[in-house]
Amino acid sequence: MIAVQPCPSAKPLRIDGASVRLARLPLVTPFTVSNGTAYEKVFPLLVLRSGDIEGYSEGVVDPAPEFLEETIAGSLALLRDTLMPSIIGQEFANPEALEQVLLPWRGNQMTKAMVEMAFWDLWAKSLGLPLKTVLGGLGEAVAVGVSLGIEDIAATVEKGRQHHALGYRRIKMKIKPGHDVALVGAMRAALPDVSLSVDANTAYTLADLPVFRRLDAFGLEYIEQPLAHDDVLDHAALQARIQTAICLDESIRSARDARQAMQIDATRVVNIKVGRVGGHLEARRIHDICAAFGVPVWCGGMLESGVGRAHNIHMSTMANFRKPGDTASSSRYFTRDIIHQKLETENGLMPVPCGPGIGVTIDWDFLETVTLDRLDFDA
Ligand code: MG
Repeated sequence: MIAVQPCPSAKPLRIDGASVRLARLPLVTPFTVSNGTAYEKVFPLLVLRSGDIEGYSEGVVDPAPEFLEETIAGSLALLRDTLMPSIIGQEFANPEALEQVLLPWRGNQMTKAMVEMAFWDLWAKSLGLPLKTVLGGLGEAVAVGVSLGIEDIAATVEKGRQHHALGYRRIKMKIKPGHDVALVGAMRAALPDVSLSVDANTAYTLADLPVFRRLDAFGLEYIEQPLAHDDVLDHAALQARIQTAICLDESIRSARDARQAMQIDATRVVNIKVGRVGGHLEARRIHDICAAFGVPVWCGGMLESGVGRAHNIHMSTMANFRKPGDTASSSRYFTRDIIHQKLETENGLMPVPCGPGIGVTIDWDFLETVTLDRLDFDA
């Protein structure tokens, strides 16, 4: 893939203003993973303005530090006190130029990703091009799987059947200690030839090796993030002792993390979440280094609204996204989304939104009704 470079005559974009909203959407059904249950999605939404163009992004940060260390409160404070003052009124020729402003600040990839991703949308719109094109992706649709939360085995298997019938290309089950081998065995019996995977969200330790050896019998695509959120060494030790591929999610925050993990064979598949790794530039670097190692990637989800989902879909058009992603139909999660377009899959394919940038428009009237708080920034 050859990414589009900014044309020499393109004028730098001045960030004239921005607003951050905190929004809340109820979930259609509660979503349970190994460390808790979500009943609603609370997320920060960022709008960057340059002239009459707007760029949108959403943060994948949670209210509490239950996935990674960042929190919504910390994210809003960092945006207000540090990141917004450093970009408002400034001009940037392209996302690489903007990234230089974010680089000195340590960590906080989820918050930095909001700024970076909104700028990509803004920049692509200023060039009149879809985000996928400026990223270097191709295609009109991306393959998607489904992620099934933790509930009783019979209900999960029934949902697996239903989603397979709907055409989803991979069925992923969330697991936790005591809710693993029997679940996967039942799903495999029900769907003998279907691509299955599991996601432990860090719930196990190396002492659980016997569980993973039993899971080897079911021909899973991969076991996602079985061990600690900040570990790669133990994952390499586990990978050496089991046949099923390990796929890291939480542990990969940068291209360096990905490279080091692959160098020690700690991960044979990588889940790229654009919002987890600081934005599209770093996501693309991870994509590229994984391609160099022959390691396929896929795009994970964080129960995003249509804005984050659209960003994920565009990123998923890059060539090494060779496994189905988590960018399933929005209606699985929300009765009403904050965008006008319907992001719905058909036969396991999610169409890439058309038009410049991320290709979706915000339903401002509805967004207003689900907005909990708002911060405005002007030059
Ligand atoms: Mg995961």
